[in-house]
Amino acid sequence: MSESTESRSQRAARRAGEFPPVPEPLPRPVLDSHTHLDITVSEAGVPGGGDPADPVAAAIDVAAAVGVDRLVQVGVDVASSRWGAEVAGSYPVVLATVALHPNEAPRLADLDGALREIEALAGQERVRGVGETGMDRYRTGDEGRAAQEESFRAHIAIAKRYGRTLVIHDRDAHADVLRILDDEGAPDTVVMHCFSGDAEFAAECVRRGYLLSFAGTVTFASAGALREAAALTPLDQILVETDAPYLTPVPYRGRPNASYLIPLTVRALAAATGADLDELCAAISATGERAFGPWHPAGVGG
Ligand SMILES: [Zn+2]
Repeated sequence: MSESTESRSQRAARRAGEFPPVPEPLPRPVLDSHTHLDITVSEAGVPGGGDPADPVAAAIDVAAAVGVDRLVQVGVDVASSRWGAEVAGSYPVVLATVALHPNEAPRLADLDGALREIEALAGQERVRGVGETGMDRYRTGDEGRAAQEESFRAHIAIAKRYGRTLVIHDRDAHADVLRILDDEGAPDTVVMHCFSGDAEFAAECVRRGYLLSFAGTVTFASAGALREAAALTPLDQILVETDAPYLTPVPYRGRPNASYLIPLTVRALAAATGADLDELCAAISATGERAFGPWHPAGVGG
């Protein structure tokens, strides 16, 4: 969740619910590794102008039509984590991650109680990740830092206990995130959600075996450093995400984002990395399966 990177006018436009047109489909299927379907539907409406009676199905259908055939629904508090776990149990193309967002944790009266709820959800079969968790020096001040760090450490422990992928939110806190991961010992799979570092930080994350998930920010004119970071990341450590309804790619900044806009970001990533589009899609898809899959085990209907 990266709401605060938007200006007030961008937020207002996003709320107005003018979803961008549907882009050209990708040649091969990919996933959206990080989306907030609950926030998208409640703040911006139904992506792709589908059936308002079932906005989740509509969001899934319009995404699948352009080759985005799997989604990871990301929790930010107990309620959204519970909701995500339920949705993942109902729709075979959705998997969930559960967590208390780093800007949410310091505001909780009972952090320990909330962490126990997250832990209970983390063991569910359709919950494959713990996140988004991490550190945020942009929106949380010094007064909230201790609780934020305590929450991050607890999430790392939960991810390891259940063998789940850790989904990291890192806002202006690269050094803190690495220090705490080193101190606790990172889980087997770590995803740097909405990767926001430069080439040097990307190289450090690559060396540690982390996955770098690139969002619509990689399409922004000002994001040269991010494109440099993408260019040095091996194809098998790249993921792609929307963070919808936030971070809508160029040329639709300020309008609401949704998983069906992933092709815009994948094409920008292909341009930045020099990778063949087919090959990039295949790599992203395989990395997504490694981090979160499989999406379609026998017995999950819907
Ligand atoms: Zn997010």
